[in-house]
This record gives sequence, structure tokens and C-alpha cells, in this order.
Amino acid sequence: MTETRDTVILGSGCAGLTAAIYTARAGMKPLVLEGHEPGGQLSITTLVENFPGWPDGIQGPELIENMKKQAERFGATFEIAHLRSVEMGTRPIKLNTSAGEIHTRTLIVASGASARWLGLPSEQALIGFGVSSCATCDGSFFRDRDIAVVGGGDSAMEEALFLVRFASKVTLLHRREHFRASKIMLERVMAHPKIELRTNAVVEEVLGVEEKDVKGLRVKDLKTGEESTLHVSGLFLGIGHTPNTKMFAGVMDLDEDGYIKTTGNVLTTHRGQVIPGVFACGDVQDRRYRQAITAAGSGCMAALEVEKYLEEHGH
Ligand code: NAP
Repeated sequence: MTETRDTVILGSGCAGLTAAIYTARAGMKPLVLEGHEPGGQLSITTLVENFPGWPDGIQGPELIENMKKQAERFGATFEIAHLRSVEMGTRPIKLNTSAGEIHTRTLIVASGASARWLGLPSEQALIGFGVSSCATCDGSFFRDRDIAVVGGGDSAMEEALFLVRFASKVTLLHRREHFRASKIMLERVMAHPKIELRTNAVVEEVLGVEEKDVKGLRVKDLKTGEESTLHVSGLFLGIGHTPNTKMFAGVMDLDEDGYIKTTGNVLTTHRGQVIPGVFACGDVQDRRYRQAITAAGSGCMAALEVEKYLEEHGH
């Protein structure tokens, strides 16, 4: 017979790992399912300067590794598995994963959000050939080259500021006049001699599909309607993220962009009714704050709710 676990955590980013630390420490032996981006977004970032407790900052991957070790110390286990579908109306809850069927009394969804793409055919054709959504992964390939970053939020600013370590010049293209980025990040970008900002600019085509190598961008100025070629060897996307919730469509309430709608911070619902034993935390349910510390905070809340739920249901 399949063993029934007390709790399974879907996702090993900041939210999932915090939930793992708390549930493991409470003796629940959580199983953490790591999907296609183990460690979540922190694992592909560089210096994290605003996570409390690290006065000089800490590298994102190191922070994640520390959290994982902390969870393992208390008995959390990890497995690489993709969730295909879930039956939440049954007791136990049944997870159909690439590693087989898993039974659990409670589920914490911390599957995070993935980088967004522009959706241009030329962009898709050149992913890995000069088009990237991860500056920290691919930036070093562009030493002494001119590159472009698209986006107007903190992610784009962070990418641009990271990429100037390698690139000779970074052109930051934003589709509007105003930026979403925080003041401090925008000021750093504006003050950097190697970064040029172009507003009201959209990428219409990535050039170099035939050569399988980015040769430039066809950029349109939305104010004048003029098109021009920007000669760059690389394009980095910093245009936000899409929540990883495809497998929950139809079984859980999602908002218009696919984020899980939660009530009471981390409780999930289906047609407005709370789904017993299923909780969501981190970026998969947070379109507003999306910080490492808020993800960690909601991971803690989900873990405490699991503990309360299991106690109330006599486990
Ligand atoms: P975001 O704030 O949602 O910004 C996304 C940007 O991409 C927006 O400027 C948006 O343009 C643009 N965009 C979206 N789709 C586009 C498209 N198809 N074509 C062109 N441009 C497009 O996302 P984010 O920058 O990833 O930040 C998310 C959250 O994480 C924020 O709360 C941010 O503060 C946080 N964050 C913090 C740090 C840090 O503190 N170091 C670093 C990274 C992220 P519009 O403005 O026109 O919509």
C-alpha cells in the first residue's frame, strides 16, 4: 500500500524551503518535490542585499543551499518530480507525478513563478543562442559585447546592473515612459556610464535566426512609429514572471493571470470554498510583494496551517 505522508511541499524555492524547515522541525517529515527550477528564482540571482540577517548581503544560491540544509537537518527529504495532476477531493490527497503517485494528508503549493518571454518567433528560435532570461546564468558569455535588456521593473534593472560586469554596453529597452522599478535600482541604472535607457521602445524582431546567433534587434519607437536596428549580440528578458499553476486549472481558484487566489493568507479555494488541507505560499500566490522575505514568511504561515490542520484532524 502507498504510504500516506503528513505533508508534501511542491517547490523548493524560498517559500517551499521555509515551509519545509517548519514542518520538518515539527516532526512531519515533509517531502519536497523539486520541479524544473530547483531552488526557485533565488538560485538564479546574485547578491541578495535585503534579506534580513545578512548585513553584507548573501548570494542567492548560497541562501537557498543554507535553507535546504536547515530543512534536511530536521528530516525533510527532496525528490525531483513534476506534478501532472492532483485529486484534492479525496482523502488522502493524491498527487500524480513523474515519479509516481504520492498520497498525502496535506499539500503546500510553493511552485513559484517562471520568467516571461516576449513571445516573438525570432526570440523563441534564438533562446540559448543569444537570447536569455537569466543574466546570472548567461551574462559571462557576453564579455566585451553590446547587449540589450528588455523591461522596466526591478528584474530588468538588476539584470542590466549585473550584465555591465561583462558587456561593453547595455541598452535597456522599456515599452513605456515610466518605470515600475524601485527608485534606488532605477537611480543606479541611470547613473551607470555603460547603460543607456530607451523608453517607448519595443522589440519587433530578433535578428540572426538564419545564423543561429543574435545579430541585432529591430526596435520600434512607439512615440514616433520609427523602426531602427539595434546592433547587439545578446538579448536578456527582464519582463516579469508567470505563476506555475497550469496543473491547478479547474481544481483551484486562480486569478486572471493564473496566480492562486488565497484567503486567510495561505488557504486555497475552489469555487469560493476552502480546500481542506491544501495551502499555497510564495510567488505562486503573490503578485504584489514577490520578495524573498515575503515568500519565506508565507511559507512559514502555510507550515503552521498544516500543523493546525493535522492536529484538528487527529494526526
Ligand atoms: P514587474 O515589476 O512586473 O516588471 C515587469 C516589467 O516588464 C514591466 O516594466 C513591464 O512593462 C515589462 N513587460 C512585461 N511584459 C512585457 C512585454 N511583453 N514586453 C515588454 N515589456 C514587458 O516584474 P519584475 O521586474 O520581475 O519584479 C517583480 C517583483 O520582484 C517586484 O516586486 C520587484 O520589486 C521584485 N524584485 C526585486 C528585486 C530587488 O529588490 N533586488 C529584484 C528583482 C525583482 P510595464 O511597466 O509597461 O507593464
